[in-house]
Amino acid sequence: MSGTFLGMPATAPRGVGHLRGDQTFPEAAHDALGNSQLRRNLRHATTTIRGKSGRVIAELPDWQELRDAGSAIKADVMSRLPELLEALEERVTEAGGVVHWAADANEANQIVTRLVRETGSTRVIKVKSMATQEIALNEALEQAGITPVETDLAELIVQLGDDRPSHILVPAIHRNRSEIREIFLRAMPGVDPALTDDPPVLAAAARRYLRETFLSTTVAVSGANFAIAETGTLGVVESEGNGRMCLTLPDTLITVMGIEKVLPTWRDLEVFLQLLPRASTGERMNPYTTMWTGVTPGDGPQNFHLVLLDNGRSAVLADPAGRSALHCIRCSACLNVCPVYERTGGHAYGSVYPGPIGAVLSPQLTGVADNASLPYASSLCGACFDACPVKIDIPSMLVHLRNKVPHPAAERAAMATAARIMNHPRLYARAQRAAKLARIAGRRGRGLPPPLSGWTAGRDLPEFPKQTFRDWWAQR
Ligand code: SF4
Repeated sequence: MSGTFLGMPATAPRGVGHLRGDQTFPEAAHDALGNSQLRRNLRHATTTIRGKSGRVIAELPDWQELRDAGSAIKADVMSRLPELLEALEERVTEAGGVVHWAADANEANQIVTRLVRETGSTRVIKVKSMATQEIALNEALEQAGITPVETDLAELIVQLGDDRPSHILVPAIHRNRSEIREIFLRAMPGVDPALTDDPPVLAAAARRYLRETFLSTTVAVSGANFAIAETGTLGVVESEGNGRMCLTLPDTLITVMGIEKVLPTWRDLEVFLQLLPRASTGERMNPYTTMWTGVTPGDGPQNFHLVLLDNGRSAVLADPAGRSALHCIRCSACLNVCPVYERTGGHAYGSVYPGPIGAVLSPQLTGVADNASLPYASSLCGACFDACPVKIDIPSMLVHLRNKVPHPAAERAAMATAARIMNHPRLYARAQRAAKLARIAGRRGRGLPPPLSGWTAGRDLPEFPKQTFRDWWAQR
């Protein structure tokens, strides 16, 4: 089904959203590597999550079979996405919800802004959501005079700190507790000036502020981890219970969901609700799993809107070698095992999707030319593939995307010359002899001279042997 796509497969538009950074990955990574506090925070957090996750995964004898099942379900979803989305729309509508289709970030932001305006509210509470970060919904709401309040603790820290998330699951992973205390003292309304950096004290301050906001806000915006085509049920998994407050207390609930999140049947959840908590937070079971189907009179929000977001996903779907990036369940296991992410942190990737999955998803959503450095933000060690609960082969996809990146003319000429030499044994033998000159031109650790110096700026020059294999063989 290589031709499956939902319409003209357009990439995410420029000038809106958070899928493109201001710097290339090497430039931003260079700045991040100079921040030793950031590296300490990241090492501590990723090592802790990795250890916890590894222990609970080892308890399951059928973990590999679960990964196979998760991968197979997602591949099935991608092969018949239009049909499943239409079934979802029908079920949600039957259950009293309203479905909106958003081709891109601009459309999604306009739809949500209009829906909030129609309620008369000037404030919304938000459940942690990557999709709304992707389209920069908070910025669009603020421009329309509507105040969005993040209710996930880490997202709240990021919002109050006027910062950007740096991890899918732990958006404030780059902050330690004394930095969080300073942010609360500076930006949290009504905070006690005697606040300490003791974690329970910080959590209590956030709880006090958020409880007041929950009880006085009538509109909530959420994302969704899953949507069941068979029943029209939406699901959010979270750890704090703040999400459940948003999903149950307000009069109006607006959910923005990427089109790839749909699952065919209720039974499919059995697989993902085992995979996700163990791979992400290292828990056996997710602490708060909230499911809802349309509206129920007298119980929960009485107005429910589902915004189905494309924003480049059809373009990803149209590439058979890249589409499995849409299988991602945002567990962040690939970030936690990645040696590159652990040293640079998430901001270096420029997009809201950092780490190995960001390196393959962001360039596909935006078009490779707009995120050309990301497919190189990897050592191709393969740790992400081993860790991924839905078996996304990120390393192969990175290589596939590197081939699509526009390469400079000098590099293309050098590669064409190398291919010609390797195709002709005599030329190859001569080139090997000439390569001995490189022992003089550039020694190990010193790099090649210009114009070839760029090649050795980020890698060691291999030491050429004194004698080639052919010469050695000829002697014998
Ligand atoms: S690519 Fe796999 S490991 Fe990485 S966040 Fe997605 S599901 Fe998790």
